Amino acid sequence: MEMEKTDIKSLTLKELEQVLLEMGEKKFRAKQIYQWLHQRLVCDFGEMTNLSSSLREALGERFFLTCLEPVEVRISQIDGTRKYLFGLADGHVIESVWMQYRHGNSVCISTQVGCRMGCRFCASTLDGLERSLTVSEMLDQVYRIQVLTGERVSHIVLMGSGEPLDNYDGVLKFVHMVSGSGGLNISQRNITISTCGIVPGIRRLAGEKLQITLALSLHASSDEVRRELMPVARSYCLEEVLDACREYFAMTGRRMTFEYSLVKGVNDSPREAMALAKLLGGHCGHVNLIPVNPVQERGYAQPDQAAVRQFQGILEKQGLTVTVRREMGRDIQGACGQLRKSFLNQREGG
Ligand code: SAH
Repeated sequence: MEMEKTDIKSLTLKELEQVLLEMGEKKFRAKQIYQWLHQRLVCDFGEMTNLSSSLREALGERFFLTCLEPVEVRISQIDGTRKYLFGLADGHVIESVWMQYRHGNSVCISTQVGCRMGCRFCASTLDGLERSLTVSEMLDQVYRIQVLTGERVSHIVLMGSGEPLDNYDGVLKFVHMVSGSGGLNISQRNITISTCGIVPGIRRLAGEKLQITLALSLHASSDEVRRELMPVARSYCLEEVLDACREYFAMTGRRMTFEYSLVKGVNDSPREAMALAKLLGGHCGHVNLIPVNPVQERGYAQPDQAAVRQFQGILEKQGLTVTVRREMGRDIQGACGQLRKSFLNQREGG
């Protein structure tokens, strides 16, 4: 009977050592292989030139090696942002974004194919969830981009398609491997996980004592409006979510980020800014305002700049730290799930 192959890039060094010992190999071989995979970022066992050819062959029989295929690349003429559409082994496609900042290069990765959270303004969720990504598929978004750009990735945000806490175990392993010294060694402080607010997931994550930044997608200052925009708010009310955030800060000492997508006529009034300030008054964290990225299928519009500034001003006057997200890659469908959606529409439409 043929043995099913193991996904070698999803194994931690410890796990890889275990399998190599089972194969009758020496333990130090695992370290060499791990380095080829997670530091030299090779895509073929044949490239692992410090291994014997018989071992390379044995690896190929026992394992498969996940390497993402760039299907399409778009480079913004405005700010150099690059958007990658990657093909997975089973034919699905996902998107990842590379952004250049003064402080370094940041990659925004997807954690799932599609999403089942149903946020009304978001393109990723239009066709629901296909599946969660494997650890190797998350890692390889970073790896491929670093190879393709030829530049070191210093920051990672889990803000692409999917809900990270709906792929909890995979995401946790991803964080450990990408920040580990045997891998790219990216500081956990430079990794941001964004969640729509799955309370048990936030509480569990608090207990992991990671140094990552947790971002909460808030988007409303009342349960009523939040439920309108985000179906997940029907499962967890604001009080519960913010309680979990308080616990997250208490357990980790890491200040949270609160994301608030401004939607014209829905959540952008001065009254709502006041309510938001009140809601976040006792929290250690800062607010990131995101003028909503209009998605064709959704029909929501951005408030004008004056309204955004007024909203920001009210929050600041109440003592909050506020940033307005600079729009990156507007000319290349930079918002969550937009490129994948237009690719799928095209593929289906022929
Ligand atoms: N599932 C995670 C990651 C999603 S993407 C989460 O919900 O946080 C990261 C952020 O972009 C989230 O705050 C999400 O609500 C927001 N977002 C998604 N589509 C958007 C759009 N069209 N305009 C503005 N913000 C959007």
